[in-house]
Amino acid sequence: MVRMDGVQKWFGDLHVLQDIEFEVAGGEVVVVIGPSGSGKSTLCRAINRLEPINEGTIEIDGVPLPEEGKALARLRAEVGMVFQSFNLFSHKTVLENVTLGPIKVLGKSKSEAEQRARELLDRVGVGAQAGKLPSQLSGGQQQRVAIARALAMDPKVMLFDEPTSALDPEMIKEVLDTMVDLAKGGMTMVVVTHEMGFARTAADRVVFMADGRIVEQNTPDEFFTNPQSDRAKDFLGKIL
Ligand code: ATP
Ligand code: MG
Repeated sequence: MVRMDGVQKWFGDLHVLQDIEFEVAGGEVVVVIGPSGSGKSTLCRAINRLEPINEGTIEIDGVPLPEEGKALARLRAEVGMVFQSFNLFSHKTVLENVTLGPIKVLGKSKSEAEQRARELLDRVGVGAQAGKLPSQLSGGQQQRVAIARALAMDPKVMLFDEPTSALDPEMIKEVLDTMVDLAKGGMTMVVVTHEMGFARTAADRVVFMADGRIVEQNTPDEFFTNPQSDRAKDFLGKIL
């Protein structure tokens, strides 16, 4: 579903993505972990070309990422992204936030987009908030709206970059539960997170990054009980 081959990226002199070989199969849930500054966000952002890469290739479902234009917009629509900050349109209602993309980018009718949006808002547990503005919702509710908004584009893969890091502790669980449901439903997911509980329960594979490289990857069971590299052992020693 996602395939990165020989990917290199520099920010000036800083080699932020080094020799990245990364593949995500359809329906697979991959959790990306690693120290701050190791390149996790850059990896995620490269997948839908929010960050251009300097070398290598990235394919989504067998199609190389287009450089720009309509083809890139179409491909981006297939990759849902949820960030730490919810990035909802503050002056639009919850329902409008979820219907905007499907109407503008997918060309859906308003009624069709609204019907689907209501289904998705119900699914993530915020159906009752459809008429409110984002500022009237809790952080956890806003993040679930952001998830519904991404799902409304019928993405082939969902990318999550620390989706719970900005949330109060009591709201983290409701967002993680939503993500676990998605994972169980067969969604292809790449999740950058410090929530090791989520990694253990929902991930098919854990990818550990350090200094711009994928240092090791394994099933959660293997990775957490038997990390191979010193970097991973050191990292796990600090967070577990
Ligand atoms: P964190 O856990 O703190 O979110 P990360 O693993 O997501 O870290 P990235 O945000 O991918 O790390 O950053 C990788 C490296 O690239 C860091 O050293 C960062 O300072 C640098 N970097 C990120 N974005 C830019 C940018 N736009 N310009 C220059 N350097 C950048
Ligand atoms: Mg990051």
